[in-house]
Order: sequence, then structure tokens, then C-alpha cells
Amino acid sequence: MKKKIAIIGSGFGGLSAACYLAKAGHAVTVYEKNEQLWGRASVKKADWFTRDMGPSWYLMPDLFENFFADFGKDVQDYLALTRLDPSYKIYFKDDTETPVIDVHTGVEKNRELFESLEPWSMDALKEYLEKAEVQYNIGMNEFVQKNYDSIFDFFNKRMMLDGLKMNIHTTIWKYVKKYFKSDKMQKIMQYPMLFLGSPPYETPALYNLMSYVDFGMGVWYPQWGMGSLVKALVDLWTELWVTYRTWAEVKTIHSTPEPKTRKRWKHKSKVTGLSLASGETIAFDEIVSNADMHRTETKLLESSDQTYNEAYRKKHTLAPSGFCVYLGLDKKVEWLEHHTLIFNEDREQNNQEIFKTATYPTDPSYYICCPSKTDPDVAPAWSENLFFLVPFPSRVTMNDEQKQIYRDKLLADAEKVLGQSLTDHIVHEEIFGPDEFSSRYHAYGGNALSGWAHTFSQTAIFRPNNVSKKVKGLYYAWWYTNPGIWVPICIISGKLASKRVAEHG
Ligand SMILES: Cc1cc2nc3c(=O)[nH]c(=O)nc-3n(C[C@H](O)[C@H](O)[C@H](O)COP(=O)(O)OP(=O)(O)OC[C@H]3O[C@@H](n4cnc5c(N)ncnc54)[C@H](O)[C@@H]3O)c2cc1C
Repeated sequence: MKKKIAIIGSGFGGLSAACYLAKAGHAVTVYEKNEQLWGRASVKKADWFTRDMGPSWYLMPDLFENFFADFGKDVQDYLALTRLDPSYKIYFKDDTETPVIDVHTGVEKNRELFESLEPWSMDALKEYLEKAEVQYNIGMNEFVQKNYDSIFDFFNKRMMLDGLKMNIHTTIWKYVKKYFKSDKMQKIMQYPMLFLGSPPYETPALYNLMSYVDFGMGVWYPQWGMGSLVKALVDLWTELWVTYRTWAEVKTIHSTPEPKTRKRWKHKSKVTGLSLASGETIAFDEIVSNADMHRTETKLLESSDQTYNEAYRKKHTLAPSGFCVYLGLDKKVEWLEHHTLIFNEDREQNNQEIFKTATYPTDPSYYICCPSKTDPDVAPAWSENLFFLVPFPSRVTMNDEQKQIYRDKLLADAEKVLGQSLTDHIVHEEIFGPDEFSSRYHAYGGNALSGWAHTFSQTAIFRPNNVSKKVKGLYYAWWYTNPGIWVPICIISGKLASKRVAEHG
């Protein structure tokens, strides 16, 4: 039956849910609190520079192809994709022997490099990546594409067999150490975990599938950045008759009590509509929330309608926030690639500061994105468009002075690593930290990178369900739920939410 459905929030989860629900014939309207669609993938044009404010790595190209294929489309018709080569550059701070390396796609292209970092490591690397590929295929085909209602849906016979190959019983921290003895190889293999929002010593080794993504599939770039991907989804909306409103913050989800039933899903109430900050109230049959989970549960719903209360949130590990500095420079910067990672000396201390003590990282590892290295359309030829991202603890705040001090320290560090001046050449600058993640996206604790961290007890079935247990007709599509973080994975969360509407609606 055709329904009137609202989507709250226009991150990738919301964008994707809208596409699938409109394709199923529903009348879909998206409400976004900010001035533009796109959630954390906001795009900002400032002076001469066009910049992605959030995601910048186009990974798992197969999942994007699958998404467009679901609508009878070819991703190539929407995006001009190129594979970056090298995939990225790494600086090892304070290392004089091999301070900088370029990492490419494929084992053979990296042979000389990895043998120099750890003699005889090629056999280990090959085996590690073969296993990572098996895990990726099982993970993406078996586990990520499903909704789970009970522990038995997850721990079925197939899972027991395949799960053994997924290395769910050990952590990525221990697993990597089993294969590689050198500190550098360990850092290279463990780095994606930080961007997955998890401390490596609490992250199940199944996430080594990210190494297959990195070395097997490669790092891609859509011309004009990730904003072009969002534009592609919005073009699809037009074809599917999705309507949307920006500057339209949802303040309340309305519901009416449900009669008592013996059914498995014993909802207390049923969605009737929503109210906007402007005071306007609109009736809807169903709602999919892509707005932050904490916000949706505690601010948009009555307390009797909340599924995940404060006690639930206190017990869970929140992913990190980010300290971001966006720069436009009036010169070209040498010795940077499109993606550059700066690794610190002591990663254990860095993990402790981010995940345990919640203190500003003293000697952080960080990431520099420089899309103007490969895309002439994002900055003039005489300039450089840079984005620094430091994984930062959530639930901290920073006043202007603290931000400035941290920014000065970060840029001084980058100038030392790169051996050249940056600060004398800034023509445009913006700082975006935990407080900005809270205010712009309503992100709980200012988290930037994934909602709930991908620890074992917060993976798959253990992530929050995408169906409200209390309110009939309320569903969720975001990185808090299964499957989790990253743009292509949030796109799958939109598909899973649309399946729920079909099952429950
Ligand atoms: C700095 C950074 C770098 C990243 N890098 C990468 C990367 O390179 N590659 C990658 O794949 N992933 C990356 N990620 C992760 C990726 O961006 C996220 O996984 C994904 O964008 C999250 O999408 P989402 O749909 O869950 O929600 P979000 O993008 O958070 O969207 C939620 C939307 O809901 C809106 N909203 C909130 N409350 C309301 C309300 N009450 N009413 C209306 N609207 C509301 C918000 O304004 C927001 O637009 C990065 C994230 C960050 C922050």
C-alpha cells in the first residue's frame, strides 16, 4: 500500500532510504535541519575553494555499483571516478630511517616497500590479504545486507561456519601482531581502525577486511569530491519524485497509543506525524529517522516512546570526534598526496587519550586531505585546498582559545613533518571541532566518526536495531545501527530500513 513517509535527516542513510522507499511507490519527503542536504558530507564553497567537510575516501566501489544497479543505473553515468595511485602517502614522525612511504594498490606494487619495512614480510602480507578478501566477501554478502531480530538470526549454522573464518574471537590488535613484527607494518595494518571509530585492542579482527578494501580494491576519487556522490543521489531523487525541505528541523515525532496485542513487536504507540521547529505539524504514516540516535530518542520522542534510554548510552563506547582544520593556501605544497597520513611515535598513548582518558591528544596521528593534488576544479592552479583531521575524544568541549592553541600546535607539527611553511600562506581557514559536530549535526557527545564504536559488543546484532521497539512505524537509518560506519555502509542502512517498512508496514 502506498504510504506517506517522512525521512528525518539527509545523511547518506537518509538519502538512500528515500531512494528505496520512493522506488517502492511511497510518497517520501526528507526534512533536513541545515541549509543543505548531505549530512556530514556537507560541501562548502569558500573563496576559491570547494571542499568536502566530511568523507573524502571513496572506498568499497562495489557497494556503490550495487546501489546504483538497484535502480537500474550505472554508477559511471553519475560519477567520473579515478583510482588514486599512489593510494596514499604515510609519514612516520620522528623516524629518520624511512620517514615517508607511498602505498599503492596491490601486493606486488608494494613488494619492495614492505620488504624494506620488514624483511620477509611478503608471504605474511599475501596470506593476511587473502584472508581479508575472504572476510570481505563473507561480510558484505552474508552479514551486512541483513536485518536481525534475534540472536538466533545472527548465530545460525551458516554464521557458525563462516564466522570461524571471520576471526571474531580475537582483536585486530593481536591479529596484526601475529602477522607482522615491525612497528611500521603494524601501524599500517591497524590505522583503518581509528577511522572505524574503535580502539584496535577492542575491535574484532574481522575488520581486517578493511585491508582488502585498501590494498585489494584501491582508493578511488569522484571528480569534484564526495559532494558529487550526494548530488548523484539527489539526481536519483528527482527521477523518483522524492521531495525535500532544508532548514526544516524536526522537533517532535507524534504518536498515538496502540491497543494491547500479543504480537511479537509489542509497540506501545503508533507514529502519526511530526512537528517542525517552525511549529508546522504534518501527518505521516511512517517515519525513518536518520538524525542522530540520541537526539531522535531523547529529544524527538516522549520518554515512554524511547527505546534506548540514558542507561543504554552510558554502557556503550562512543566513537571519536574529530578536530578538523580546513585551509586554503596561496601556494602549492610539496610532498603531499591527495591522501596523506601522519603516524605518531606512540600509538598506544594516542589510543588511551582518545578512548580512555578523553584528553586532547598530545602527539596525535592525523590525516591530511589535499584534493587539489588531483582535481583542478576544487582550487585555483596557484593554490592548495587542505583538510586536516585529527581523531579526537568525544564528550569534550573546546572554547575558541583552546581551539586556536590546538590548531597552532597541529600546524607547527605539520610544518615540521613536511619541512615547509603553511601558516604564512593561509588565505582561507575554518576550524571544526567536537562542539561544531554537536551544533551542526546534533551529534551526541560531538562524535564525528561512527556513533557507536565497532567493538565486538557493538557489532552487527549487538548494534541498536533499526526498528523502534516502542513506536510502530518508526525506523532508523544511520551509522548507529547495523551495519555501521562509512558512506557505503550507511547507504546499506537506508536499504535495510526500507526493507523494514516493507516487512512491518
Ligand atoms: C570528518 C569525517 C570524515 C569522514 N571520512 C569518511 C571517508 O573518508 N569515507 C567514508 O566512507 N566515510 C567517512 N566518514 C563517515 C561518513 O561521513 C559517515 O559514516 C556518514 O556520512 C554518516 O551518514 P549518516 O546517514 O549516518 O548521517 P549524517 O551524515 O550524520 O546525517 C544526519 C543528518 O541528520 C540531520 N539532522 C539531525 N537532527 C535533525 C533534526 N532534528 N531534523 C532534521 N534533520 C536533522 C543532520 O543535520 C544531518 O544532516 C567521515 C566522517 C567524518 C565526520
